[in-house]
Amino acid sequence: MDLSYILNHLGEERDEYHGAVSPPVHQTSNFAFASVAAMRHALPHEQEVSFYTRGLNPTTAILCQKLAALEGTDGALAFASGAAAISAAVISQLQAGDHVVCVQKPYGWAEKLFNQLLGRYGVTVTYVPAADTAGIEVAIQPNTRMLYLESPNSLTFELVDLEAVCAITKPRGIVTVIDNSYATPLGQQPAKWGVDIVVHSASKYLGGHSDVVAGVVCSSKAIIKQIFDHEFMNLGGIAAPWTSALLLRSLRTLPVRFERSSQSGMQVAEYLYNHPKVQRLIYPGHPSHPQYALAQKQMGQCGGLFSILLDAQDVTEIERFADKLQRFLLACSWGGHESLVLPVCALAASPEQLNPHLPWNLVRLYIGLEDPSVLIADLEQALLDMK
Ligand SMILES: *Cc1c(COP(=O)(O)O)cnc(C)c1O
Repeated sequence: MDLSYILNHLGEERDEYHGAVSPPVHQTSNFAFASVAAMRHALPHEQEVSFYTRGLNPTTAILCQKLAALEGTDGALAFASGAAAISAAVISQLQAGDHVVCVQKPYGWAEKLFNQLLGRYGVTVTYVPAADTAGIEVAIQPNTRMLYLESPNSLTFELVDLEAVCAITKPRGIVTVIDNSYATPLGQQPAKWGVDIVVHSASKYLGGHSDVVAGVVCSSKAIIKQIFDHEFMNLGGIAAPWTSALLLRSLRTLPVRFERSSQSGMQVAEYLYNHPKVQRLIYPGHPSHPQYALAQKQMGQCGGLFSILLDAQDVTEIERFADKLQRFLLACSWGGHESLVLPVCALAASPEQLNPHLPWNLVRLYIGLEDPSVLIADLEQALLDMK
């Protein structure tokens, strides 16, 4: 992959816009035609010809070319959010009566899509631990149409062996979908292992500055056309031109940001791994992760998002630790410039209503672009304050 070419040149027809290095934002809803004949010709080809911005917008088109090239797929579509991208990709492949096998503890809104929204349309789902390849095979039913993956998943960072599960699904004609937000296409290219549809929340690393909400679907020509014709045009959850322009800006620096976050992430993780107040580090990039070998095989750098289990007496002590941090913002949506802390107890309606499927003392950290020594010093003072 000629990363430098993709990020700096691919799809940018500079001759067409006065040599501008940064492409113009085509902030327009409509595209006008010179004749009735030209308009009539364009309408059935909205995927290739700009007709109306819910279809093909030239700014978004540049972004999509780059995203497809990064993932090594034929095409890509940009959406208004990661949730819109996931919904469009999933709905495009399912009908009433279909069954889905899904990894346990996927992104919360993906789980709600299966359990609630698609449940209303007669779709059923079985959840299997991500690492349990044999269990995934056992869960397949005659009406299983889709395997939905997130590797690693968002809070507990369990990996799926992508090559092994694709060897199970391919001969059975089961479509595989993966949420690749954690690794970015720089860390992991699931299509290489045989995964059919790759989705992203572009609100995370791809956006990288905590100022964009967007999503991406990457896949084969046939699947991209199928999604474009139906879920993309019909549900209409598209990325707006300005959003695409911001993402184009962000992609230029993705390798630098991702590398920095990965390296600092490793440094902070190593510090925490050796701290007596940390019971366990959960980071696929660290040799202590039970699936470290698999992470090395199918992911390169692992980014800066990981969890720790704190050696605390109770939830109050976890709350105090998180509140004491000065350089980590208490916020959810990672992948930006700023470091974050997210104790799972903050996601519960009250300290008495903790999620039984997650360790109560789990704290997720995201390491951004700050000086890692500043972050370590901040963690040090907050950990010291624990009893
Ligand atoms: C944030 C996130 C999403 C949802 O993306 P939005 O852009 O917020 O809709 C999906 N999957 C993962 C892994 C995420 O972190």
